[in-house]
Amino acid sequence: MAEPIQLFVPTFRIEETLEQIRECLEKGWTGLGYKTLDLEQAWRDYTDLPHAYFLDSATSGLHLAVRLLKESDGWQDGDEVITTPLTFVSTNHAILYEGLTPVFADVDEYLCLSPQSVLERITPRTRAVMFVGMGGSAGRLEEVAQICRQKGLRLILDAAHMTGTRLHGKHVGAEADVSVFSFQAVKNMPTADSGMICFRDPKLDEEVRKWAWLGINKDTYSRTLGQGAYKWMYDVEHLGFKYHGNSIMAAMGLVSIKYVDQDNAYRRQLASWYDNLFAGDDLIATIPQPPDCESSRHLYQVMVDNRDEVVLALNAQQIYPGVHYMSNARYRMYAGNHDCPRATKASDMLISLPMHMRLSYSDVGRIADALRKATSMSQ
Ligand SMILES: *Cc1c(COP(=O)(O)O)cnc(C)c1O
Repeated sequence: MAEPIQLFVPTFRIEETLEQIRECLEKGWTGLGYKTLDLEQAWRDYTDLPHAYFLDSATSGLHLAVRLLKESDGWQDGDEVITTPLTFVSTNHAILYEGLTPVFADVDEYLCLSPQSVLERITPRTRAVMFVGMGGSAGRLEEVAQICRQKGLRLILDAAHMTGTRLHGKHVGAEADVSVFSFQAVKNMPTADSGMICFRDPKLDEEVRKWAWLGINKDTYSRTLGQGAYKWMYDVEHLGFKYHGNSIMAAMGLVSIKYVDQDNAYRRQLASWYDNLFAGDDLIATIPQPPDCESSRHLYQVMVDNRDEVVLALNAQQIYPGVHYMSNARYRMYAGNHDCPRATKASDMLISLPMHMRLSYSDVGRIADALRKATSMSQ
């Protein structure tokens, strides 16, 4: 029997990671500060983004992004955020957490928000657009950013898949008012669970440090460094959350970030093997990549008819693909939102094929063969 092939398997540089974690344990510092500061600096160096704050997850980051923009711009409950139905629910939950209304716009051929559809959804209550870089693709991010500038809307980038994605040779993120990255275990820069929030505005970067630690205005590390009898004192400015990252996760991230470009290059190699094997196959539709975008290739997606049967046929061959995503309009929480025909169709047809560092050329061949057999049988 052939070996099972999973959708995602994270690769950790184990000895190097343990060495980083050991430093935290020896120092007796596993929390906020220390390695979290090192990772923020490494992230700014890596992306060239001006600000970065390390969090316990991208879900927390998306919530904080919406919260801080709402606070700073004085948005009212019920104000609207244009977003995609084709995403992980974190994206849209972040809008609901803050009492705002998610308004679904449709996707384009890149499976990212369509600028035309965004324009059609703008109303006097629209305050922001939430853009998801599907699988690492930047889609038409720049056009959406242009619309936001013209219409006075904020742009939030859910960059959970986009570590290492470069547009015109520059790391993505600066296009938006705030970008949120995920370092969850199966994302392309794995820790166990963590994320990074990058605001454009230095004032919001300063604010988010308080909001992520219960609204407390001085972190433990700087208090320890501080002098004098009152170093235990702090003020509480906001009803904040406990969303900050810790030094163990940052220790893992400090190793992952060193290898992410190398790993992404291998992901692009896997993607081009898949592309070549599916070229000319009428039953397997590959997803185009936007011009001058070097994607992280967090995902390799195709669209097929009879998707559910095809997934079962692959499972019978010990191949375990995924689906990114079911249209959020299908979930009870989001029912009754706008009809988005392209997203709905994609939601019925998409398959994410295995994409990780342990796959070889022959694994890709085996997956492609099994997929071709399954699609031609279901005709
Ligand atoms: C994984 C993911 C998130 C959430 O990331 P966490 O770090 O797990 O909270 C948000 N949006 C998208 C598109 C994701 O894939």
